[in-house]
Amino acid sequence: MNDTNLTHAFEEAGLGVAPFAFVGCVDSGAGANADGMVKRTSAEGIEFWTKPGGSCAYCGIGIVILCKIQDANGARFHVGTSCAGKSGDKGIINLAKRAAGRISRAKAVAKQETRIEAVRVALGLEGLGTMALRHGDTLGVLAATDLFATLADRPHPLEYWADQGKTMATWVCWTLANAGHAGKFKATKIIEKILKEAN
Ligand SMILES: [Zn+2]
Repeated sequence: MNDTNLTHAFEEAGLGVAPFAFVGCVDSGAGANADGMVKRTSAEGIEFWTKPGGSCAYCGIGIVILCKIQDANGARFHVGTSCAGKSGDKGIINLAKRAAGRISRAKAVAKQETRIEAVRVALGLEGLGTMALRHGDTLGVLAATDLFATLADRPHPLEYWADQGKTMATWVCWTLANAGHAGKFKATKIIEKILKEAN
């Protein structure tokens, strides 16, 4: 549907009757394992692993992010994000874009969380609670890794604490325990760089 053609692209494709409403986007690949398979539960309650995704009702291509659309009669189908964008329907285009953005941000954060966790393991911190991590300067005993020793040789990134003899190890432990996601990821990138240099 646009200025020159008043038939909705989805109606023209035989998908239903306009107006169409955007219901929501689902990332069917969320939570996939290393083989790219996702866990599902059958109607009988049996769990099984399957490839995520479906096919776009508009173009037939395989899709992982499903944009659910509902026609005027309540019939539902799903299309891919790019075909939602080709619908010519401003409402659907905007909502699909926003939902797809939310999904890709969530995916990026999930990937970063995996990296943060890997760094905690590399530092030997995975089993330690928040209280122990708060006192990062006492962790030399607990985290007896080469990586921790390297961090303890570097000054604290904040001058005030560096002047008091605090090290990067203190900062990293404090950050991994107390900072928000952005801070934790910042510490993670610093550690990843050190690990890369060591190899
Ligand atoms: Zn499509």
